[in-house]
Amino acid sequence: MTTDRPLPPGSTIGIIGGGQLGRMAAVAAARLGYRVHIFSPEPDSPAAQVAAVATVAEYTDRAALEAFAAGVDVVTFEFENIPAASVKLLSDRVPVRPSWKVLDVAQDRTHEKRFFNENGIATAPWRRVASAAELVAAVAEIGRPAVLKTTRLGYDGKGQIKIAEDTDLAAAWAEMAGSTGSQDCVCVLEGFIDFAGEVSVIVARGLDGVSAAFDPAWNLHTRHILDTTTIPAPIAPALIDEALSIAAHCAETLGLVGLLAVELFLTKDGRLLANEMAPRPHNSGHWTIDACITDQFEQFIRAVCGLPLGSPERHSDAEMKNLIGDDAESWLAILGDPGAKLHLYGKAEARAGRKMGHVTRLRPRRR
Ligand code: AMP
Repeated sequence: MTTDRPLPPGSTIGIIGGGQLGRMAAVAAARLGYRVHIFSPEPDSPAAQVAAVATVAEYTDRAALEAFAAGVDVVTFEFENIPAASVKLLSDRVPVRPSWKVLDVAQDRTHEKRFFNENGIATAPWRRVASAAELVAAVAEIGRPAVLKTTRLGYDGKGQIKIAEDTDLAAAWAEMAGSTGSQDCVCVLEGFIDFAGEVSVIVARGLDGVSAAFDPAWNLHTRHILDTTTIPAPIAPALIDEALSIAAHCAETLGLVGLLAVELFLTKDGRLLANEMAPRPHNSGHWTIDACITDQFEQFIRAVCGLPLGSPERHSDAEMKNLIGDDAESWLAILGDPGAKLHLYGKAEARAGRKMGHVTRLRPRRR
């Protein structure tokens, strides 16, 4: 279903997924006068805690999805791994933004890499791999080191194995097939990029086709999980422009309505290679809450409600640090630091590797 009219304040935005991205989006929606209905299998999810209504049900629960669709004016996602049939059911009843086509590209690493390459955007060399024999052939072509990744449901380094000089390929394949629990495991093998750094760009595109991007971010990962984001990225202005134009090109080509985060590797010889993209708010955009006129969550809500986009201009330079697992125990000390802005996600249990919150520190803008 489609409608081109801006959704008036007081309307209800349905958000699929109950994590911190949904939570911060729900807060931004509330600031603009909207109500939010969260759909997530998790009881007392971070997003449900701040929403007007919450449905706790599996993403495949037809009856729950139908009731959800009947109670909301638009549907969006803070999590893109939703079964196609569920998105179809929702799309037949209510506007879904971004569209199924965008989610389909972003859900599967082979679709994503094909999309990048077909649109002239370079990636690491890659091959689709669906058996131990195909892995051997792909490693012979791409060389070592390389990274084997599941095509679906991988994030924060989950579903990834590094293929080093001495890695036994049959064992690596068995581990991957075992961990996905699937007889028909499909992966991609990617060349390992010994990068100079990682850059991400978040771009919003409205119903009217107008887009607006935030300044590219410089990201440091620890154990595959984002640790720190720094703005501005310490890279040449020409690379900033190239990163922005890659993201704008992706949003335009996809016909995106919503938000798109594109993650890029910067190689040591100065090339940008696309790694992956996510059609939703992104961890590397959390700095925008404290450092921009319009932050990524408000921009997301504006785009999915058909409103004009806000200014993404940054008034300050910023560093955002994730609080992972036990890090969040220092909340009181962080609150005692006058330069720190603390954000906590309402998660009761601090498991290792779990994103519990983040802290942003601002500096006067230099350039
Ligand atoms: P991903 O799940 O693809 O975002 O990967 C998580 C992180 O693993 C990335 O942000 C990189 O730090 C690292 N990584 C993923 N793919 C590669 C690669 N082909 N070469 C080097 N590092 C990689």
